[in-house]
Amino acid sequence: MIIGSILSKAGRQAVDWLFPPRCAVCGSAESFLCLNCRELLPRAERPRCAVCWQPGGSSVCPKCERSRPAFDGLRSPYVFEAGARELVHGLKYQHQSVLAEPMADLLYRYLLDDPLPADVLVPVPLFFRRERIRGYNQSTLLARALARHLGLPPDDRTLVRARNTASQARTSNVDERRVNVRDAFRCRDRQLVGKRVLLIDDVSTTGATLDSCARALLDGGATSVWGLTFAHED
Ligand SMILES: [Zn+2]
Ligand SMILES: [Zn+2]
Repeated sequence: MIIGSILSKAGRQAVDWLFPPRCAVCGSAESFLCLNCRELLPRAERPRCAVCWQPGGSSVCPKCERSRPAFDGLRSPYVFEAGARELVHGLKYQHQSVLAEPMADLLYRYLLDDPLPADVLVPVPLFFRRERIRGYNQSTLLARALARHLGLPPDDRTLVRARNTASQARTSNVDERRVNVRDAFRCRDRQLVGKRVLLIDDVSTTGATLDSCARALLDGGATSVWGLTFAHED
């Protein structure tokens, strides 16, 4: 056990020596997200819709007035631009799974100021084939790291993607995206009955994916669903 931990520490040091931490935004050799770039991340300033987090003047936007999403509300500390976009892309496409830790730390700081109701953290699932290609689900990494900060359990087993959907980036408009993800998720058991779920993803665009997940979670017995994503595409 002790030898194991010494070896793993030595292993980490060797990795640090071979691949010293570099800031994913500016490339400086300090850490995976340097202090300067962390301070410059574009914050999602208010006013915003209290439900879907779109920027705007009224407390609930006309779209949410017309048709409420299944989730209680969505929050993102950052706008999907500049450094926040670099981090999301780094975590998702450049295999920089190490970024999950500093990103979860920022989500945790955000929740200290603006707490959300939660008994359990659930990541938005990837279809398993896509996860196998990438080797991990970036939302699961964020949810696990944030759960450690909060002292809450993560649950990345109950909510599953029922069928593969075309990549959101390849579908053009809001309606197509909604159709694309409708009924794409389900709960495979009753683990979440009576639980307040905090649903985690790296980035939110129209909220259609989170809406579809929230529907499945409520069907699976969750009492409330709030969405928390690192960045929001305004
Ligand atoms: Zn930097
Ligand atoms: Zn809204």
